Amino acid sequence: MARTQLQRARDGEVTPAMERVAERENREAELVRRQVAEGRAVIPNNHAHDALDPMIIGREFATKVNANIGNSETSNDPREELRKLHTAVHYGADTVMDLSTGSNLDTVRETNVDHSPVPVGTVPIYEAVKRVDSPAEITHELLLDVIEKQAEQGVDYMTIHAGVLMEYLTLTDGRKTGIVSRGGSILAQWIEENGMQNPLYAKFEDICEIFAAHDVTFSLGDGLRPGCLADASDEAQFAELDTLGELTRTAQDHGVQVMVEGPGHVPMDQIRDNVERQQDVCDGAPFYVLGPLVTDVAPGYDHITSAIGATEAARGGAAMLCYVTPKEHLGLPEATDVRDGLAAYRIAAHAADVANGLPGARDWDDALSEARYEFDWRRQFELALDPERARSYHDQTLPGDNYKDARFCSMCGVEFCSMRLDQDAREAGDGMTTLDDGTDLDVSPAADVNLPPAGTHDTSSVPQEIELDDETFSVGDLHGDD
Ligand code: SF4
Repeated sequence: MARTQLQRARDGEVTPAMERVAERENREAELVRRQVAEGRAVIPNNHAHDALDPMIIGREFATKVNANIGNSETSNDPREELRKLHTAVHYGADTVMDLSTGSNLDTVRETNVDHSPVPVGTVPIYEAVKRVDSPAEITHELLLDVIEKQAEQGVDYMTIHAGVLMEYLTLTDGRKTGIVSRGGSILAQWIEENGMQNPLYAKFEDICEIFAAHDVTFSLGDGLRPGCLADASDEAQFAELDTLGELTRTAQDHGVQVMVEGPGHVPMDQIRDNVERQQDVCDGAPFYVLGPLVTDVAPGYDHITSAIGATEAARGGAAMLCYVTPKEHLGLPEATDVRDGLAAYRIAAHAADVANGLPGARDWDDALSEARYEFDWRRQFELALDPERARSYHDQTLPGDNYKDARFCSMCGVEFCSMRLDQDAREAGDGMTTLDDGTDLDVSPAADVNLPPAGTHDTSSVPQEIELDDETFSVGDLHGDD
């Protein structure tokens, strides 16, 4: 039977996926192997995901970003789902989660896996709910069937809310917003109506066996995460975290890779404690956080409120950040929301990597600053995190080609351009020295995700044409960029 990356790492083997990851991170393959063997990093890599360009999630490596995509009851166009996938990859998502809850679930999932160069994650309880009239009717067998089928389809990691235990539900009674995780609330209803323990907890070892056979990575879900600042760091959240620590060890004993999900909504001053607590309880297993949002007052801008929290979480050791879009709490994101959410989170991840001193992470900033000071506008656009947006904002006021070498822009205007004035003063030889330049990104030790372009993936295994609903169209038509 094919073995998992964890099992092979423990046996001292450097797999092709580890070699590829080492190349992308610009780190030693032996470091990658050791981190995977110790459970401190994961390489989500289902044996059946042929289009995958392997990547690694762990605090020793560049901070990664996940984008959630997927349909809902009110949005069921499979082509729109593929557009979201390609927009996400184009703008730098390191993984995507297909959270579809509408129709055509198998078609959407299989097409996503076939065409995704990044790992694909799912939450299988969503599909289980779709197969019954009420959550209480979900059986243990149905859950295992859904999980096994998704593993066979090539899903690389799955969110399993196995830590929502019967005895923890009353701990949420005094909360302002109760249980806000979709998976958590479904399981709470199941437990209440059946009077039995969480089926994902009861069948956890069976799930481990399925995951081991396909090398699916656990993303242990935080079904009792806080849904507002007032509920952060409460007894329910930390009781569940203790169980997730226990389940981390159980899964790893089965040779299965594990990461652990985290909150949610957390005041700034509690974020670092949350990260440190997870690292301690879960023996350093990678922490995958949703935001967290640092204030509840800005619906419409929650990509910003949460990117602030995500930066602090990554500073403290979170390994992957689940993006939040401006539509959070308000509606299903569209392609433009995916773009805005990803920009916010790529900034958060990169800012944390720079501050944490990840090798070479700042080289990108230095190269862009040099281009800026030299008024090399084309190079600035090329190096920008979102080149299309930088160019279009510049060209709104100074569209002509002659302005691509101009020693000013419309922000301060020619007379007040401080960088031009500074350069003129240096040239006049009034005692100021010349500034350094010359960052060469070709020799930077930075990981791919800390170098432009943001969406750096090997897409050679991705089929370039897609057949859907008896129609063929090309992958190139799907990008959501301008
Ligand atoms: S005009 Fe102002 S914003 Fe524009 S390049 Fe000069 S200093 Fe920078």
